[in-house]
Amino acid sequence: MKIEASPALLQKIRAYAEPFESIRPAVFALFPGNTQTLFPFEPESDRGLGVLLLAAALHRPGGEALTARILADLYRAFGTDIFKLNRIPFEKVRETVQATFAAEAALILDEAEQARIPGILRSVCDFFYRVGPLGPWLESAPDWETRAGELCNEIYWMGLRSLTRSKARLFFWLLTRIPDFETHLPAMAHHARGFVWPVSDAHLRFWIDIVKPARTAGARSPEERLSAFAAFGKELFPEAPWRLYLPLDSYLRRDRAGSFTCRTAQDGCRPCPLSALCPAAGQFIPGEGS
Ligand code: SF4
Repeated sequence: MKIEASPALLQKIRAYAEPFESIRPAVFALFPGNTQTLFPFEPESDRGLGVLLLAAALHRPGGEALTARILADLYRAFGTDIFKLNRIPFEKVRETVQATFAAEAALILDEAEQARIPGILRSVCDFFYRVGPLGPWLESAPDWETRAGELCNEIYWMGLRSLTRSKARLFFWLLTRIPDFETHLPAMAHHARGFVWPVSDAHLRFWIDIVKPARTAGARSPEERLSAFAAFGKELFPEAPWRLYLPLDSYLRRDRAGSFTCRTAQDGCRPCPLSALCPAAGQFIPGEGS
């Protein structure tokens, strides 16, 4: 599988990606200087990195607001013991998570997934206990692929049997969302340029709708998809290939207001550089939809 696009299309995709640069997942609003500041520590601190790992472990597509709400409520309940949930009775953690769901009817998750949350959180805290502060653990990484494998092997429901290691990859992508991450974490920028970023269902939708691959474009095993999109990211943004993940992950993804997250980022379909190619553009442009 190879993703091929003309120079003109590459330019359009770069322009489409531009507004996503300033967008950060909901959990970042809880750090200092943001709209819902709660944590007294910065995202690049060891504690901040711990919060980002907890967020990645709870990740599900389109579930960023839910994750942020769960972590905020846990922090209000336990303070910095949020990093020691493995030493807090399981029932107390479970009750706190259940209270979050009870307080916010819009937070929908199936019962099986909901029931797994306390175990996932406690498993991440076991991991903190074993490796110590995440900053040194990341700085001493031989590469991020090795560290992603460790996360999958050691944290419950993080992707032990996953071919794509999506949650672990997402943790590393969250690091790139730290403002000026290359300045704050210079040792990590090198690993980031060589890393393979997550691929979601929205990436494939984008490839089919916008790039319009030939029927002979090749097989699409999970591993092939990862490497094809990694190569595409490097072609589009050689110095910062991680920039491709969010624009593609947002493509035609429904948000809580019933719109698409890509449309919100572009401030409507009409100014979107991809509107002439996108099958969903017409319904949002007055007079051009059915
Ligand atoms: S739905 Fe609108 S904003 Fe999203 S890619 Fe299509 S044209 Fe662009």
